[in-house]
Amino acid sequence: MFAEIAFPTAVRRLFTYQVPEELFSISLTGKRVWVPYRNSFAIGVVVRTHERAPDFDTKFIRKVLDESPILSSELLDLTEWIHKFYFCSWGEVIQAALPAGLNFVSKTFVRIAGDPNAQSEEEQFILKEINSKQEHSHKELQKRWRNTKYLRIYKRLIREGILELWEEPDILVQPKKERWLDWNESKRREARGFLETLEKRNKWQDSLQRLIAEELPAPLKQVRERIGLSDSSLRKLSADEWIRFEEREVSSGPVDLDYDPDSIKKLNPEQQDAFHQINSAIEKEEFSNFLLYGITGSGKTEVYIHSLKKCLENGKSGIVLVPEIALTPQTVARFYKVFGDQIAVLHSRMTNRERLREWKQIEKGEKRIVIGPRSAVFAPVNNLGIIILDEEHDASYKQIDPAPRYHAREVAIVRANHSNAIVVMGSATPSMQALQMVYQKKATQLLLKKRHAEAVLPEVNIIDLTQYSGAMRGSMSVALFESISESLQKNEQVILLYNRRGFGNYIQCESCGHIPKSPESSVSLTYHKRTNMLMCHYSGYSRKADTSCEVCGSDKLLIQGSGTQKIEEELEELFPGARILRFDKDSTSNKGAHERILSKFGEKEADILVGTQLVAKGLDFPDVTTVGVIDADTEQAFPSFNSSERLYQLLSQVSGRSGRGKKKGRVFIQTRQADNPAIQFAKNHDHEGFSSQEMNFRQDLKYPPFSRLVQFVFKGKEERKVVQSTKLMEKIIQQLLPETPTLGPSSSVIGWLNGNYFWEISMKIEPERGANYMEALLEKIMETYNNWSSFSSSVVRVNINVDAQR
Ligand code: ADP
Ligand code: ZN
Repeated sequence: MFAEIAFPTAVRRLFTYQVPEELFSISLTGKRVWVPYRNSFAIGVVVRTHERAPDFDTKFIRKVLDESPILSSELLDLTEWIHKFYFCSWGEVIQAALPAGLNFVSKTFVRIAGDPNAQSEEEQFILKEINSKQEHSHKELQKRWRNTKYLRIYKRLIREGILELWEEPDILVQPKKERWLDWNESKRREARGFLETLEKRNKWQDSLQRLIAEELPAPLKQVRERIGLSDSSLRKLSADEWIRFEEREVSSGPVDLDYDPDSIKKLNPEQQDAFHQINSAIEKEEFSNFLLYGITGSGKTEVYIHSLKKCLENGKSGIVLVPEIALTPQTVARFYKVFGDQIAVLHSRMTNRERLREWKQIEKGEKRIVIGPRSAVFAPVNNLGIIILDEEHDASYKQIDPAPRYHAREVAIVRANHSNAIVVMGSATPSMQALQMVYQKKATQLLLKKRHAEAVLPEVNIIDLTQYSGAMRGSMSVALFESISESLQKNEQVILLYNRRGFGNYIQCESCGHIPKSPESSVSLTYHKRTNMLMCHYSGYSRKADTSCEVCGSDKLLIQGSGTQKIEEELEELFPGARILRFDKDSTSNKGAHERILSKFGEKEADILVGTQLVAKGLDFPDVTTVGVIDADTEQAFPSFNSSERLYQLLSQVSGRSGRGKKKGRVFIQTRQADNPAIQFAKNHDHEGFSSQEMNFRQDLKYPPFSRLVQFVFKGKEERKVVQSTKLMEKIIQQLLPETPTLGPSSSVIGWLNGNYFWEISMKIEPERGANYMEALLEKIMETYNNWSSFSSSVVRVNINVDAQR
């Protein structure tokens, strides 16, 4: 018998191994195995087994690492689809689908293999060190001896074969366990009678008495804290078999959250209509796809909750995808209230151990609703009934780097289709892709046109900065300034958006105009006042801020631009006494910071929240009455076919943050392009107007959704070779697909990073093409490219991005 094995490398093909006889009786598909690979060993996943002997020598599988498959056949099929459609290796997809801690990583160890006839003191030192312990990690030793004379000698000993490297699967994260205390069967009732026979109780009998009042099983530690059991009493109680112990995995589900399933809200008539259609689709147990198109605050979340409840009642599970940033305690609390412990939350700030625990509980069916960002589309739920994509238009649903470069919307649709489940895509500003599905009758549109209860959409004012430049308070127009003052006076709240996208504060020489750039990328360095540092947000490079111009030596350096920090400082001057919170990548880099800032704002411990696009998404604060966009034009800095859509969505989303409660909201959009249609449509909350204009534009130019962009990105240290490779790809596409329109070749938006140049070319493929077509096409293109190219992949690397967004 033979097994086809996928490895988590970029190599797209599978590898054939022989199955040893002792493994014939067990099913290997979906399990991890330990096999010889190149000159060493590696972990792979068996994706299928068969009896067709290949015409080359095969090696044997050494070990099976899992008792039961880590991927169900449903998820194996799904990962295969991604492997083909997004043209990456199957192993890469499997790795992305598994929680860290359950992946394929192996660890390299070192041991003494050759004759240690070493002479020098250093050599003796190294050998002694390695002899001292059974297992020495190669990586740790290298780290320990970095920048010392030992490293070079250590490496030489490996080359000479005196030291040998070997690999073992890395130890999995073990779920943390704790001790639980329980009665031995039936002993609880006996205990009462036994105690009654006693005239006087000693210490352990006292403990037994107190145990009767406890609700068992319970964690031992908790019980001891409550009733103070001594070690000797415990020993006696268990020796006489009154009680027993049990090791259980520590569960730390959301605590302190309010669980009240009866609090589920009664739907209003509009919501009821929408839910009615979802409900009958769930009943039918056939794939169907809905676009729940409802303005912000119209109660989409309530419709999700009712739909999930319906699925649970029918014995099914559900997945709720949200943009990572919307995964706030606020959101989780709303679902928790109705579903309690049945909810599993997955997010990137969890430790591996936490994520693995949630994953196992989902797999065992202990938790049947999963909430998480795009990778939660792979959650191992049993009996999938529904996948909900909240804020369906959000850019974070597309993974850009590393591979697999999938779009969670597409993956959700394919998964639901295979499982006869339904998809609900929710948005106030649906993407052109989702609208196209509705036009083509591949999705059913459900409309929510009213905000729940009295809340009304805010009034949106466009402030043309070209007219107002004389009348500004710092970065704020007078109108915005006055609105903020008014909100503060009434004890209401303010949200300000400054979307700097890496172009924040920077330093500029007043004499020669020079702006310091990162030596590792082509991007200007951002100035951080608090630390007096210059930082590159793309490569991580940083240095102390210059005191004089590196070009002309002048010491007249200006701080330019206005990042969120600078806005924060302005606000402190303009509104003394106002409590200000900043919300951006820098202020949220610590674990939990993100939640802390939002809950502080939610509890009205701050008046103004100022931040990047992070503040635009999904937040629901009823006391916010002023929303300001400091500069709408920064959004256009990254040119792309969908930059208008992004601007429109950003403005609509941030406007939606205002006036969510009973008070009417005011929105101010400051811009130098006041007649930009995206801004005008956003002002009028006119998504139909925007989307019909945008759809015409996309159709004329054959942009998505009227095509699918397949982007080839070339990366290398020598620009000439990178450009040459990109041009070669252009030629190949023209030859193989003469009718196919292309974009580029051009330098990427960030054309130089960490010493590498980036160029790209994209082609527009018919949007209806399936996974088999895509795989065959890209195989053909890459085969031709590899034959014709004169550079190896270590000189110029190609990355393929199907469904590219720009
Ligand atoms: P969306 O997800 O569309 O932005 P939400 O679901 O957050 O809207 O609803 C906005 C507000 O209206 C929330 O505070 C929510 O609790 C409330 N709400 C929505 N629908 C109902 C309903 N049927 N009954 C009571 N309150 C509702
Ligand atoms: Zn200068």
